[in-house]
Amino acid sequence: MSEPTFTPGPWLTEPADWSVAGNTVWKALDPDNLSELAYEQKICDIRGWGHLIATELLSDAEATAVQVANAHLIASAPDLYAALDELLGETTSGYHPSDPSLHGCGCARCGKYQAARAALAKARGET
Ligand SMILES: [Zn+2]
Repeated sequence: MSEPTFTPGPWLTEPADWSVAGNTVWKALDPDNLSELAYEQKICDIRGWGHLIATELLSDAEATAVQVANAHLIASAPDLYAALDELLGETTSGYHPSDPSLHGCGCARCGKYQAARAALAKARGET
């Protein structure tokens, strides 16, 4: 397992100043002061408003709400990664505190742990 190389959080989102609806995700300038964004460190622009209206047949308000929700999900990525990594701890393939030899035994709980580890690997670009 490698260490994540993505821009450290926290990330924040704000409505973009475009002629069409959209949001931008930025790195926070100061992790202890989330009111200021690091405008030199843009993470991404969230677009697709027209697609949502044209092909998903959403209203303007519905399409904007989806974009805002997507922006918040993306902005939470570093926090989600850190929380899940912390939650999983050193466990690599399963969860049996009393008998680690059972990790990966095929039970439902081991499956959830393996899925969580796979999600972290995906976030690191390893899958
Ligand atoms: Zn198991």
